[in-house]
Amino acid sequence: MEPIRYYSTNRNSRLKGIKPFRNRVNFPNALIMGQAPDGGLFMPERLPSLSFREIAELKSKPYREAALAVGKRFWEDCVPGDVLEDIIREAYNFEIPLERVYDRKYVMRLDRGPTASFKDFAARLMSRLMSYLRGPHSHLNVLVATSGDTGSAIGEAFKGVEGIDVYILYPAREVSARQKKQLDTIGENVRALMVDGKFDDCQNMVKRAFLDEDLSALNLTSANSINIGRILPQTIYYIWGYAQVAEAGEEAVISVPSGNFGNAFGCELARRMGLPLHRLLMPTNENNEFSQFLSRGIYHKIDPSRKCLSNAMNVGHPSNLARFFDIYGGNVDKEGKVHAVPDLDLMRKRIFSVSVSDEETKKTIVEAYKKHGLLLEPHGAVGWRGLEKFLEEEGDFPLCISIETAHPAKFPDEIEELLGIHPPVPPSLRGLEERSGEPLTMPNNYRAFKSFLQSNLRSAD
Ligand SMILES: *Cc1c(COP(=O)(O)O)cnc(C)c1O
Repeated sequence: MEPIRYYSTNRNSRLKGIKPFRNRVNFPNALIMGQAPDGGLFMPERLPSLSFREIAELKSKPYREAALAVGKRFWEDCVPGDVLEDIIREAYNFEIPLERVYDRKYVMRLDRGPTASFKDFAARLMSRLMSYLRGPHSHLNVLVATSGDTGSAIGEAFKGVEGIDVYILYPAREVSARQKKQLDTIGENVRALMVDGKFDDCQNMVKRAFLDEDLSALNLTSANSINIGRILPQTIYYIWGYAQVAEAGEEAVISVPSGNFGNAFGCELARRMGLPLHRLLMPTNENNEFSQFLSRGIYHKIDPSRKCLSNAMNVGHPSNLARFFDIYGGNVDKEGKVHAVPDLDLMRKRIFSVSVSDEETKKTIVEAYKKHGLLLEPHGAVGWRGLEKFLEEEGDFPLCISIETAHPAKFPDEIEELLGIHPPVPPSLRGLEERSGEPLTMPNNYRAFKSFLQSNLRSAD
């Protein structure tokens, strides 16, 4: 088979100031580049496919087998099978509960990785692929700016991974004590830099470093959520989860609580690889720009984004919307301007999106627990409520899976207030107090950051 190549969502852009990137690159390049030089996002020019039989054969099989079946099809040209097997075994060493709620309605919990969020799935595979694909003798340096949770997911995913160091910049006064402890104490090849500034300052320093020619020899790279390496691994759990509960090629409804739409885009790709999906549900919190777009056909980003309980989904213009537009034949830019309208009829047929208010989110946490003994945190509650709304509007559908993206123990105060219980703490979130480690402190000043990078980073093994 020809290797899969990746193109830029801006390849046909006629915007001033953008030189469209018309090349197609292979996976290792797309992975290390992170983003196309024209600011577009990388997209696979074709997708591998799995037959009904191949999917059905994953029933009762460990997750690793699904990961290998999918992974081989994406990376057979660049990662040998035995290497991929090792990578997958190392990356996926935690459980994935698939909980029956009632009838054939399920919740799949993607919250048992080291940072108790679904982001662990993609980050852990991506880090190891980067390590293997980084090229002989080169050493990569990942820079991440974080306002909290993404930084620890990336940091933990790269911890101990060969040939890569990670530098996490976080704003000194904008992360919680718990998040700070999580970031400061990862250790090994992961350093926390506490910046005397705001999140935007951290992000600007990182962005400037990527563009700084003086630093081009340092092999700087990013691991943020627009990297295609963060998307492809997110096709696997839909296929695996479906195979566990489906019968003979039947269709399923899957609900993915959505913020930047990377998780949902994994599901969209899985559909195009052969997953029999009746409808992809993409409920959001009060940031309802997408459900408004589906109903009206006009897109308005929400700026500034609305602050909701499900804080990892407070996104007023989802970064992966560009991928959804592209795959449905449209184009939208980083600012939220639409240059080509996607096939709306097809989108509406395949995707359902509703906005779930904070009020409803809380009510859902209470009612799901009372009615079904189902314990949800705010993100998963948006997913579950989205499913309920779909079933109310369209009538019952036999097989449904709703995704829980974080562990309830990450929201002890909300859960206690609403349910009067203390959610059980998974092993990954225990023992934080015993961990030790100090951050480096960094003034809010690019020159200081640059000179830190120049004197501390290595670019060869
Ligand atoms: C990041 C995140 C989301 C949103 O996922 P997207 O891929 O950005 O749509 C939802 N829930 C949790 C807990 C998250 O951390």
